[in-house]
Amino acid sequence: MDTLDGFAGSIGNTPLIRLNSLSEATGCEILGKAEFMSAGGSVKDRAALWMIQCAEARGDLQPGGTVVEGTAGNTGIGLVHVCNARGYKTVIYMPDNQSREKVDLLNTLGAEVRVVKTVPYKDEMNYQKQAGRFAASIDGAIWANQFDNTDNALAHYESTGPEIWRQTDGRVDAFVSASGTGGTIAGTSNFLKEQNADIQIVLADCMGSALHSWATTGEPVMSAGGSITEGIGNSRITDNQAQARVDDALQVDDQAMVDMVYNLLRTEGLFLGSSAGINLCGAVETARRLGPGHTIVTMLCDGGSKYQSRLYNLDFLASKGLTAPER
Ligand code: PMP
Repeated sequence: MDTLDGFAGSIGNTPLIRLNSLSEATGCEILGKAEFMSAGGSVKDRAALWMIQCAEARGDLQPGGTVVEGTAGNTGIGLVHVCNARGYKTVIYMPDNQSREKVDLLNTLGAEVRVVKTVPYKDEMNYQKQAGRFAASIDGAIWANQFDNTDNALAHYESTGPEIWRQTDGRVDAFVSASGTGGTIAGTSNFLKEQNADIQIVLADCMGSALHSWATTGEPVMSAGGSITEGIGNSRITDNQAQARVDDALQVDDQAMVDMVYNLLRTEGLFLGSSAGINLCGAVETARRLGPGHTIVTMLCDGGSKYQSRLYNLDFLASKGLTAPER
């Protein structure tokens, strides 16, 4: 029998999909890791599983315990699935600027969701800091702390990186990734660089984030503009991000991302979220920089269904000065 071991067994090992239209347009092989096919629906299932397994292994998380996290959504979704499967309670703090679908989904899955005012990280009422304080205040609880808990990057070092290496038979020239906590780009870049230090690691950043500046100048200075993307961009260098080995960085504006995801839906049938759109714009730009004949891998971090009220809502786009491309 060819079976997987429960929810945890169905995380990772996602297919690597050739983006035909982008590959043909650039003369490169542009390949996307189909994280939207993971059991909980996103790249963050990997981080959730590793953070819980590592906490169990350290003895920090005991049967019947509680996992608390501050999350824009996908890590919370991954955590609730994993916690349900292992008998833990889940409490999720999230900022109030996130899509309604993610709040509803977390509630449906069984998390206790606390939506709090969106304030900068330096503010003591920031959602991550509230999550940390709450976890410290109750017995048997852990704070997953995806931003600075490097078990997050370890997930990608032990799963995403090896999968990409295996799926491309080691023939990968560049890995392009947006970054939120930094877990994906840190873990994957370290694994790939250990196999072949020439593999180019490119950070694709949304506007209004400090990661492009950090990667190109060493100083995390926020760029002008803003972004409707969710789960990516950051104003600070987390412990996960600090481990990343980045060669190059580029910025992608929201209109380019919107054009990308709508065109892919129409021409390839792939229904993707905004960070996947940033990644694919970054992959196309990387193909232009490297020239034809290269293999470029990126992450299709999640699917579009959580974003129907925002990215896939024309009125919402118009309110942000964005338009869907003509059919
Ligand atoms: N895309 C989506 C949809 C996400 O939810 C996240 C996580 N915040 C990312 C990309 C970024 O991944 P990471 O946290 O590993 O940098």
